Amino acid sequence: MRIYLDNAATTPLSKEVLEAMMPWMTEHYGNPSSIHSEGRRARTAIEQARRTIAKCLNASLGEIFFTSCGTESNNWALKSAVRDLGVQRIITTKAEHHCVLHATDALKQYQNIEIIYLTLSKEGHISLEELQNYLSGSDKKTLVSLIHANNEIGTILDIKKVGDLCLAHQAFFHTDTVQTLGYYPIDVQALNISFLSGSGHKFHGPKGIGFLYINGDNIIKPYIDGGAQERNMRAGTENLHGIVGLAKALEIVSTNRAAYQTHIEGLKSHMIEALKASFEDIRFNGDLEQGHYKILSVSFPPTPKTEMLVMGLDIAGISASGGSACSSGAEHDSHVIEAIGGDIDRKTIRFSFSSYNTKEQIDIVINKIKNILPSIVKEFV
Ligand code: PLP
Repeated sequence: MRIYLDNAATTPLSKEVLEAMMPWMTEHYGNPSSIHSEGRRARTAIEQARRTIAKCLNASLGEIFFTSCGTESNNWALKSAVRDLGVQRIITTKAEHHCVLHATDALKQYQNIEIIYLTLSKEGHISLEELQNYLSGSDKKTLVSLIHANNEIGTILDIKKVGDLCLAHQAFFHTDTVQTLGYYPIDVQALNISFLSGSGHKFHGPKGIGFLYINGDNIIKPYIDGGAQERNMRAGTENLHGIVGLAKALEIVSTNRAAYQTHIEGLKSHMIEALKASFEDIRFNGDLEQGHYKILSVSFPPTPKTEMLVMGLDIAGISASGGSACSSGAEHDSHVIEAIGGDIDRKTIRFSFSSYNTKEQIDIVINKIKNILPSIVKEFV
């Protein structure tokens, strides 16, 4: 049996979610745009799913738009803010997910948008004072785009404080909540958020389905032209079973949040203690106090064997991420570790947990690492 500790990359689909999705691929296959009863049934399922998601976020129904993934949601938010809301300047960081970094690169290159990168502390926090200075220092229409929990090191942003600053300076605020959605309560009515992105496969839902929350005050033009789906904003026949699965998964994780959190926090602290007790010169990246409970980023000292740690773990039946989980499948130095001024000569491994993991699995992983890296195992005293 393999041990899967890469739940920030993706999570296994829950059986309950699969069961909820199945009928929408087999019996109820209607096109939600058709007016016959199969179509109407499919349309009802989509609107029910939208209601579930809106309820989880305390949003209005008309503020939830389904997309194909978190990447699309982030692109949509950034590009619409520029095209439709007159944004000329984006304030972000160099530790965002590549879909935000590369979308802002494109906006700079093709649309001459000014991009400002906030300074990051060594734990990965922004400075609210620096953000305030930038916000008050220019009349340019501005969008602040900041990740809620960093997907590599887990550091969490205070979205309430950032939202308040954006409100005070009439800036738009986009937050990428792909790693936090379901794991932390988010109430968009209590927060000044203009755009918020989510993705189904990070909380035991299906891949290929996401959504974008667009605050109702922001009037934008269609992102994909075609039919009238998603209230004319994103054309294309809806991913019916994906939408049903996304909503079911979000409902399950939100309902069981407290129990999941307690269990996963227990796994994380068990692993931290075991790593500290077992190895010399171990360092943890991010903020252990204010970090996502499902993400643990560990830097191992450079030895000839640490370079191959992810591969060694994989051969030993354990899945974790090394460097950044890159879409090309290749391992690169992490842009996040670089952005926080971390030591890129050390080998960084991201372990990320789910409610399916156990403490026994963590103990097995620690023993496997001892076998792979005997030179850094602490001497028994
Ligand atoms: N944003 C963050 C923080 C992520 O972790 C990811 C996926 O790893 C994405 C965006 C992209 O989401 P998707 O895989 O649904 O495109």
